[in-house]
Amino acid sequence: MPINLTINGRQVQAREGQSVLDVAWANGISIPTLCHHPDLKPVGACRLCVVEVEKMRGLIASCTLPASEGMVVHTDTPKVIEERKFILEMLLSDHPNDCMTCESDGNCELQSHVYEYQVPWKKSKGKTHTYPIGADPNPMIFTDFNKCILCTRCVRACAEVQGRNVWGVANRGFNDKIVAGADVSMLEAGCEQCGACAAYCPTGALTDKPSRGKGRDYQMRKVTTTCTYCGVGCQFDLNMRNGKVVKVTSNPKAVVNGMALCVKGRYGYDFINHKDRLTKPLIKKDGKLVESTWDEAYDLIAQKLSGVKGDSFAMLASAKATNEENYVFQKFTRAVMGTNNVDHCARL
Ligand code: SF4
Ligand code: SF4
Ligand code: SF4
Repeated sequence: MPINLTINGRQVQAREGQSVLDVAWANGISIPTLCHHPDLKPVGACRLCVVEVEKMRGLIASCTLPASEGMVVHTDTPKVIEERKFILEMLLSDHPNDCMTCESDGNCELQSHVYEYQVPWKKSKGKTHTYPIGADPNPMIFTDFNKCILCTRCVRACAEVQGRNVWGVANRGFNDKIVAGADVSMLEAGCEQCGACAAYCPTGALTDKPSRGKGRDYQMRKVTTTCTYCGVGCQFDLNMRNGKVVKVTSNPKAVVNGMALCVKGRYGYDFINHKDRLTKPLIKKDGKLVESTWDEAYDLIAQKLSGVKGDSFAMLASAKATNEENYVFQKFTRAVMGTNNVDHCARL
């Protein structure tokens, strides 16, 4: 049975188990969030998604509020706006005014909401955190916990998406902080360097180390492609700048993997523009490999293969190739080489 409720005067319907935030977003009604992400369990930590609900007291975090029959919700009353501005002001009071050089400039959810709500950054008169910048030696993830807003998305992404449980929250009150394991390095805490924590972090607290300084998000041309490393077939976006791949980012619409990637898919892209990469075919002449043209190489392959047609030929295909390429391998083996001697490395 659908649940009927009203949001900002509009009649909308919800399914059992949907939160008010889910229903609002599904109906194109914008509510800002920081700790919430649709892939992760809601925790109601940042309270930026507060709304007013008639016949309920106070402002309520909509991400953890189940939609119920007859509910009347208001998402942008003066009281709600004032509360969101206050939350953002509090977050800024202990946040470096670092956007000019921050890796996440232009791709930072905190920055976007601060802009949207026009909250000024004021020099803090109180205590601020001074964590050492880039302290964790992880080769793939750069840490700057001065920019952390304790949204715990990294904690939940590592636990719920990657199943590693590297991150946790230590201490209480002002001393609350995100720590790996029992406050050890990420690798010591069992990090697999998948980069999920950085991908879900809404600020510049966790960022991809290999692409630091290589370009802003808005300077990149994004090309969606399929990973060539294994047969899972994850999709992601190659981030191109000046004709070179400088970063890989998750594509939330990827059917197979969503935002999840492993270390190879997310960070193993330097081979693409590597100087040692072959760009011309090599043919062995007088015991030495020498550069040739593609026509010469294909002629040589055709000549050699035509001498081994039938069952003296076998093809071993690769999980690193796409399904379409593997289809062509077996078709070539059967139809051109005249044998069923075809197999695939994934079976070994
Ligand atoms: S890189 Fe992956 S495994 Fe390592 S802490 Fe982040 S989410 Fe967890
Ligand atoms: S490091 Fe990023 S994702 Fe983790 S709690 Fe801090 S701001 Fe949130
Ligand atoms: S990202 Fe990792 S798991 Fe996904 S296809 Fe590439 S190598 Fe396989």
